[in-house]
Amino acid sequence: MKTIIHNGIIVTMNKHQDIFPDGYLIIEGTRLTEAGPKEELPYLMGQKADPESGEELKWVDARRAMVMPGMVNTHCHMSMVPFRGLGDDCKDRLRVFLLPMEEKAMDREMAVLGARYGICELLLSGVTTVMDMYYYAGHIAGVMDDMGIRGIAGETVMDQATCDAKTPEEAVSMGEEAMKRYASHSRVRACLSPHGTTTCGAQYLRKSYELDCRYNVPFSLHTAEMDYEMAYLREKYDMGAVEYLDHTGVLGPRTLIAHGIQVSAKEVELMKKRGAAAAHCIASNTKAAKGVAPVKKMLEAGVPVGLGSDGPASGNTLDLFVQMRFCANFHKNTLKDRSAFPAKDIVDMATMGGAKALGMEDEIGSLEPGKEADVVIVETDSVNMFPVYDPYAALVYSAQASNVRDVYVAGKCLVKDKELVYQDLGQVREALFEKMKKTEFGKMEGIIFTK
Ligand SMILES: [Zn+2]
Repeated sequence: MKTIIHNGIIVTMNKHQDIFPDGYLIIEGTRLTEAGPKEELPYLMGQKADPESGEELKWVDARRAMVMPGMVNTHCHMSMVPFRGLGDDCKDRLRVFLLPMEEKAMDREMAVLGARYGICELLLSGVTTVMDMYYYAGHIAGVMDDMGIRGIAGETVMDQATCDAKTPEEAVSMGEEAMKRYASHSRVRACLSPHGTTTCGAQYLRKSYELDCRYNVPFSLHTAEMDYEMAYLREKYDMGAVEYLDHTGVLGPRTLIAHGIQVSAKEVELMKKRGAAAAHCIASNTKAAKGVAPVKKMLEAGVPVGLGSDGPASGNTLDLFVQMRFCANFHKNTLKDRSAFPAKDIVDMATMGGAKALGMEDEIGSLEPGKEADVVIVETDSVNMFPVYDPYAALVYSAQASNVRDVYVAGKCLVKDKELVYQDLGQVREALFEKMKKTEFGKMEGIIFTK
């Protein structure tokens, strides 16, 4: 069967950044086989089957809608959904709320149920690929597989005991097992993700890097994010965080720096030289008053930059529409330049930039024949979407996650008319809620019990 999406504004994000105002796409199996202006389609128009091959044709009308590549969330902690909204304005929220609650309440079942909920949210907002970092990576990869999203499940490696590993050695061996299991999966991979530059020692940074490179998956860690991280590395090595990664031998084409807020101009050059990329999490960073990463310098240097939501505790939503808007607003404001970061460049970061940051640019990130059919249809019927002069500007400044109508991953329709095709969101929420009630979260009445 061929699926033909037609009548929509096709925003390809290909090399020429072609837009087909009345265009079409053809999906065959998991791939896109054609993308172009509608004039090129007449041989199939009005047909129920392909006259040449006899294959059935399924027509999807994208009238009054924009069709864009599936978005790529390059930094996420899906399983942390239960922490959303917890101690949001607390000065030291990490130590007061997150770490103690994680220690008391997080286990495999909660991580899996949280990830299920997180994936529902990602799909409903047009994210088709997610780079996740948390615990129980083998199980999270299983949830990704089951729910049809494309993703990489990172196993956190850190010096201290965590909810799934008593030692970093144990985390590495669990992660490696998941990496092996998913090494040839069509959509899902696992990787090792050291927690950060100062929370995972050099030995395990190197070990993780080595394995991630061997399995050709991203080596991603929190970098140049925290004041205490910067002070420690300056004091001990007289280095910035990126310099420290380079000094440790783990800065290379597979390295994906999450946050990268406090990165110097010299370090941007170093990232370029080594082929490293960045996951920019502007909503999380600005909410925590940590600053704005030097993304303009990174892009000018040719460093791939993708957008990331960070966890739902940090940025509150997992969608990239919020990130796109914040990215535009904060960078324009910081640079005092209204023309900086044009909408087209921001949509590029949410799609191709993310694909490049994950080393997946040959497979995803744009609507081009030969690529995987990860496609999002954004309707323009809603009150906030009229009129549309420039599709990029409409996506960055007007659109919200709730405008996402249909979502395809690897050619499979996972969201249709704003509903999940294979999941019952109510049931997914209920299962997570029941689990939360049995843990420390259940003692926080009046905070989470919103039924
Ligand atoms: Zn994070």
